[in-house]
Amino acid sequence: MPLTAEVPIRPLPPGRDTRMDAIERTVRAGGRLSEADGLALYETPDVHRVLALADLVRRRLHGRAAYFNINRHINYSNICALSCKFCAFHRKKDQDGAYEMDTARIVQEVQGAAAAGATEIHMVGGLHPWLPFQWYCDTLRAMKAAVPAMHIKAFTAVEIVHLQRISKRGAEGFEGIKAVLRDLREAGLGSLPGGGAEVFDDRVHDEAFKGKIRGEQWLDVHRAAHELGLNSNATMLYGHVERRPERIRHMRLLREQQDRTLADWARAQGIAAGPDGAIVLTGPETSYPKRRLPMPGQEGLSTGYFQTIIPLPFYPNESELERLPAPTGLENLRTLAIARLMLDNFPHVKAFWIMQTLPMAELMLGAGADDIDGTVVWYDITKAVGEGNHQETSVKDLAKAIRDAGFEPVERDTLYRRVVRDGAAWDVAE
Ligand code: SF4
Repeated sequence: MPLTAEVPIRPLPPGRDTRMDAIERTVRAGGRLSEADGLALYETPDVHRVLALADLVRRRLHGRAAYFNINRHINYSNICALSCKFCAFHRKKDQDGAYEMDTARIVQEVQGAAAAGATEIHMVGGLHPWLPFQWYCDTLRAMKAAVPAMHIKAFTAVEIVHLQRISKRGAEGFEGIKAVLRDLREAGLGSLPGGGAEVFDDRVHDEAFKGKIRGEQWLDVHRAAHELGLNSNATMLYGHVERRPERIRHMRLLREQQDRTLADWARAQGIAAGPDGAIVLTGPETSYPKRRLPMPGQEGLSTGYFQTIIPLPFYPNESELERLPAPTGLENLRTLAIARLMLDNFPHVKAFWIMQTLPMAELMLGAGADDIDGTVVWYDITKAVGEGNHQETSVKDLAKAIRDAGFEPVERDTLYRRVVRDGAAWDVAE
């Protein structure tokens, strides 16, 4: 039997949840799940069936491949004009622990990363109150000049809106965002990370991160990036003051935006959109073979798109929401599996090992995840275990975790092209 062949899923016999039968039929047929289905996936006691269904669609898309990359995170400053309640990272100027890196230090990090074989820099920080917009463009230019092949994935949508405010470029709203993104792209920006999305809901926004941009603005920034041909990712920070229906709505809003973004590409590929313009990529191979996954430069794809959904569990330690319990391992597994099932037009689902832990990321590869992120090295924003910001893992450990989970490790670049390498030198495979 081929490894990607679909096997029957055994439901729990006693107390079995009949809603899951209909959901399984929809998933097997390549249909789209509703918000009510999403909630049923959260409520069912048949959690193993939820995980197995997510694994089924993950294998349809990626077979046994599980992706990782060699990357380095740079958090250039933790000084931030805002004070989101869930954030243990930010500091005010002169507060203990406040820091900022200068351009020379950042370039040094990029050179060190290149010497270690990294293909990607992931750079984000706080909303710095006095660094001018020019500093961001100059820093990107200096990074690219030092290592031209390095892909720079940088700045959350929240930072992009902040940069638009300080850029004094004149244009406002969506066009202003686009103008700023154009400048950053010309300076060397390669794609946007998915941070800052949290949960798209006004109640949750006002309670936990008032002052930050709302969901519509976050989506607008990514739409502008996609229109400029930049790919991006999306996150969902859950397990704080939001409720499960709000998580499902968050997923639906991302899915709807991706439908609109992929509409032209789907037409060019001969993929018929479903009701309400649904572009489902997770159906059986007969309807959506793997080669039809959106890839940069493919026929009909003149825009960027969301590559990856990254569910992020909230860690309350040292935040203003310290009283809250962190989500359980089972809730994390279930949420990742539901993200795979609901976000049927996202090519990838990432189990970010820094926040999930590597053992949990390993488990998640069998519950919908096809990516566990990379070597990371330094990460200041949060930590699931231990102290300090040195959070590094080796390619050997990533590959072992993937193999132990029964998958084949595939090194990718930021755009999910296979990497071929000879030591620190690398290229992408055709
Ligand atoms: S989450 Fe981001 S915007 Fe909010 S306080 Fe932390 S660094 Fe600042």
